[in-house]
Amino acid sequence: MPVLERGLIHVYTGDGKGKTTCALGAALRMAGHGGKVAIVQFLKGWSFYGEIAGLSYLPNVRLEKTGRAEFVDKRAPLLDDFAEAERGLTLAEGFLVSGSFDMVIMDEINVAIDYGLIPARSVVGALRRRQPWVEAILTGRNAPGELIALADVVTEMREIKHPFKKGLASRMGVDF
Ligand code: ATP
Ligand code: MG
Repeated sequence: MPVLERGLIHVYTGDGKGKTTCALGAALRMAGHGGKVAIVQFLKGWSFYGEIAGLSYLPNVRLEKTGRAEFVDKRAPLLDDFAEAERGLTLAEGFLVSGSFDMVIMDEINVAIDYGLIPARSVVGALRRRQPWVEAILTGRNAPGELIALADVVTEMREIKHPFKKGLASRMGVDF
């Protein structure tokens, strides 16, 4: 039995901290009610994100990471970057339509679209084809207008302060 009768679409965007951690909080909450959650991470091939091992403690949450371990150059993406983003989209669409999940999180998918790795219209198509009870969450800076128009929940994390601006590096356990 699905947890929800009718799933909505969330977009967490903006330049402030908290988009990915907000989506992870939503996963935690859904898992607590016995719901099944699939998370596809885009542009996150690096293996040291705390959520990878952290989520493995939750039996109902499946995480698939895609992307290379290195940063993508927006002006000169590699063929691998396109292939990995497409692989992520195919995975996400499979989870959205399968009927096996209550929530599907596409972490940093907005960035993959912004970098031109996958078209916004393909993401919109995948969302439209989802099972009606699936809550879909999309994160990342520079969310495209098409997704903002389609979404039911749109939150912009706006940077007021970030320690990065003081020259502080990202910290294990907090930023990754
Ligand atoms: P988090 O993963 O902490 O919830 P986020 O998903 O909102 O952050 P992203 O835009 O995905 O942030 O940024 C990825 C990395 O950059 C994270 O390690 C995050 O902590 C850090 N970060 C987030 N916002 C800023 C900012 N305004 N300036 C510099 N670094 C940031
Ligand atoms: Mg993020």
